[in-house]
Amino acid sequence: GQSRKVEVGTRSVVSFQDIGGQNTAKNELMEALEFVLRPADMERLGIRPLKGILLTGPPGTGKTLLAKAAANYTDSIFMAASGSEFVEMYAGVGAQRVRQLFRDARQVARKENLSSAIIFIDEIEVMAGRRGQHQSHLEYDQTLNQLLVEMDGMSTTEDVRILVMAATNRADLIDPALLRPGRFDRTVRVDLPDRQGREAILMLHTRNKPLAAGVDLGQIALETFGFSGAHLESVCNEAAILALREEAEAVTHQHFKAAIDKVLLGEKLDRHLDR
Ligand code: ATP
Repeated sequence: GQSRKVEVGTRSVVSFQDIGGQNTAKNELMEALEFVLRPADMERLGIRPLKGILLTGPPGTGKTLLAKAAANYTDSIFMAASGSEFVEMYAGVGAQRVRQLFRDARQVARKENLSSAIIFIDEIEVMAGRRGQHQSHLEYDQTLNQLLVEMDGMSTTEDVRILVMAATNRADLIDPALLRPGRFDRTVRVDLPDRQGREAILMLHTRNKPLAAGVDLGQIALETFGFSGAHLESVCNEAAILALREEAEAVTHQHFKAAIDKVLLGEKLDRHLDR
């Protein structure tokens, strides 16, 4: 988004159990997080520390949730930023913000007495697209270079270990320099959910809703092919709003059907208006 707010560092409350489907992504991620959980063993075996994980896949599939769950799982501070926050008119400002982000992460972790921090950068392609393809080359290169400098300088012997997680739905735009060893060593694909994944997501987002007899989440999962987790969350919310309008005691299968149409229509409008 356009907003300039960098989320202040927090302890994350999202866990892997709050994420429906995405089993492959979760497993790959948890495996990679061993690096954060076992620094002494990594050191003993002389394993190069993992500094960055790139999450790729369509919007609304749970990349941000996965990063938050990773912070919770590893007892790390969670700091979130978006690539667009670093794009500035004046030379050096973007680079300055990158420095500040890493400084803040370390500071907040110390304050919270935690030995690790996860920095999450959404829409990384905005700041880390292929260099030399951007309008204001100079400023842009400085910002990306600063990110690389920070990552190259990170070490396991610091009092606060940092892991950078970045997300993009345009992996094709990423500067290959970012993917070199010692930078974003791992890429985890976060795809649209399959039928089982959709059912799991629907179950999560109806946990707090009264469902009428006859609501069949398996059937709804079948009928929502191509929906992302964010779409499915909308479907559940819209269905409940319809129930409220009708003063219904519980959300019915019909409410869900109507909500699916509503979300589909909104999606079409978005595309039409190029929003
Ligand atoms: P973007 O690329 O647009 O930033 P994202 O992949 O980071 O998207 P999230 O921000 O993690 O997506 O998801 C948006 C919302 O959609 C979540 O807050 C959640 O309500 C819902 N959601 C998405 N994926 C899942 C999932 N796998 N399980 C449960 N909820 C999900």
